[in-house]
Amino acid sequence: MSKVYVLYTGGTIGCTGSPLAPMPGPQFEALVQSMPGLENGTVAGYAGLQYTVAWFEQPLDSSNMTPSDWITIANALVAVYADYDGFVVLHGTDTMAFSAAAMSFLLPGLSKPVVFSGSQIPLEATVNDALPNLTGAIVLAGTTSIPESLLYFDSLLLRGNRSVKVNANQFAAFASPNFPPLGTVGTETTIQSQLVLPAPAWNVSLSNPANLSALSAQLATQAQVMPNFAIITMIFYPGITASLANAMINGSTPSTKGVVIEAFGEGNGPSDPAFLQVLSRANDAGIVLMANTQVLTGTVNIGAYATGLAGVGAISAYDMVPSASLAKLACVTALILPPASIKAAMQTNIAGEITLPSTANA
Ligand code: ASP
Repeated sequence: MSKVYVLYTGGTIGCTGSPLAPMPGPQFEALVQSMPGLENGTVAGYAGLQYTVAWFEQPLDSSNMTPSDWITIANALVAVYADYDGFVVLHGTDTMAFSAAAMSFLLPGLSKPVVFSGSQIPLEATVNDALPNLTGAIVLAGTTSIPESLLYFDSLLLRGNRSVKVNANQFAAFASPNFPPLGTVGTETTIQSQLVLPAPAWNVSLSNPANLSALSAQLATQAQVMPNFAIITMIFYPGITASLANAMINGSTPSTKGVVIEAFGEGNGPSDPAFLQVLSRANDAGIVLMANTQVLTGTVNIGAYATGLAGVGAISAYDMVPSASLAKLACVTALILPPASIKAAMQTNIAGEITLPSTANA
């Protein structure tokens, strides 16, 4: 017997009408239960696999999701964690990669699968990608025991914090540019078990009730901080100036706590001293500067070029995708740590999100 908790947060999978907007939870649950193979909370062909549907009171288009909603998802999973073997989070595709990454940082000690999924076409449409994505996500959550926050879409099982939305229209909407898929579903379902994170030890595992209640307290702290979220993304582009950078970093309330820089190439940017001074002043003020690359694939090498961002105090995000970098910075910053500890955490591999250079190459 395996029990899966399906949390419907909104997104295209549950959308109806024109323009599309998510339907209420009870209506979505009835729709799911009417689907061939998913009747009455069971999954045809998987004896003993049962699922339950829960929902956000106000299902969201994921373009409206904020970091506080990540905490709501985490709390919902923690509340029922002990009662289920796996979890599915149905979510809009627009910001699914952010939420799936955030869950890997908000749920340390995760010992069961959390599978994010959704679709490009609503479940109520005759031809859709919603039913295979939903059914596959439930089966993977209920049968694999992978202790990770995952993203399942169009037959690919990806590590959530390695995922990126790469197509706005087609069913193959997600990729994992810097890490291989953890699994594929097809005529044969293959899980690359050598890539899957090891199950957490009992002393840190969320299967241990003491850790589960400690996590609830930690999430309560993060929930208080998240409404004051003040992380920005700064994409470098030809023509960016000191004045523009200053407006981005110093023009908001509450004041900026971190900047996910999407730099050029291996972590490069303009050498204009005034521009670099805006960045180094931010760093001196305790604002954490993450040097990511805006290039889809590959890793940052911050010291490779004279134009590299090493001199302003930015720290390398290596091959973390910018959405994971932002989610991680938001979650770590919400623990109210000093900048040095935030920087140390950002360069620690917490949940398989980053490939750190080996000591020999560092
Ligand atoms: N706008 C939708 C959302 O992110 C798109 C989708 O789900 O595919 O909620």
